[in-house]
Amino acid sequence: MNTLLTLDGKTAVVTGGGRGIGAAIARALGAAGAAVVVAARSENEIDGVATELRALGVQAWPVPVDVTDPDSVTKLTSAAIDRMGRVDVLVNNAGVVKSAPLHSQSLEDWNRVIAVNATGTFLCTQSMVAGMVESGWGRVVNIASVTSKVGARYISAYAASKHAVLGFTRSIALELADKGVTVNAICPGYVDTDMTTASLARIEKKTGQGSEQALAMILAGSPQGRLIEPDEIAHLVLALCDHNARGITGQAIVIDGGEVQT
Ligand code: NDP
Repeated sequence: MNTLLTLDGKTAVVTGGGRGIGAAIARALGAAGAAVVVAARSENEIDGVATELRALGVQAWPVPVDVTDPDSVTKLTSAAIDRMGRVDVLVNNAGVVKSAPLHSQSLEDWNRVIAVNATGTFLCTQSMVAGMVESGWGRVVNIASVTSKVGARYISAYAASKHAVLGFTRSIALELADKGVTVNAICPGYVDTDMTTASLARIEKKTGQGSEQALAMILAGSPQGRLIEPDEIAHLVLALCDHNARGITGQAIVIDGGEVQT
């Protein structure tokens, strides 16, 4: 059986790689042998992750990017190719959430969430996938959300943006199906990162509940009753990069402890 047990010789770009899920993905890809470009806006955070990876013997570079800005994305692609020769794996992980009920949803926040989560995924994919097609091997993994599949109160912009990511994933998977490039979405429930900490703080402020009650509220529907760890997402990214995952494309894989089963 032809099996790719490591990512030795492969190259990867992880957007939003400076903290949370993206940092865990960058660490996992590096540990599997890939060279990694760690990209986000906060230079101190991407420097920190790249430095940590280099200390472990991984080839890693921080490259600042704002995924909503086409010029910035073009510069990220050029920097990645300069440093690594090509991009084999793109993980579109950069994301933001803004919560508001419909009546007070601002257009500015709506546009921002769509721009980062949906347009950023489009821009990075469009910019980096040509090299994958040329080499005949590539993996695009979009970190979407359970809200790509189901709605959620008070985060309509976020859910709309993540539904867009899923539609994009499915469509591009079809466009690239015969090119050796797979395109998949990972759809996490609540993950133990700064994003969830901020959501919990908002719930505490709105409801006057303590932190334990706020956590119980967001986990109320979860059969496993726990937050997902960033490493669990990173492990699935690695699995999707395997040679034997080449038949998995256009899929949306939920990691949420069993709550959303579609
Ligand atoms: P964090 O807030 O911890 O990290 C988000 C990352 O995205 C940061 O590195 C941030 O860096 C980067 N980012 C934000 N805006 C931009 C931008 N315009 N350009 C480039 N990078 C940007 O979030 P998580 O780690 O929790 O989330 C990562 C992904 O997982 C997101 O797409 C999120 O929607 C998704 N997700 C998270 C869940 C959760 O419960 N935490 C659940 C389901 C999905 P910087 O601000 O420095 O640019």
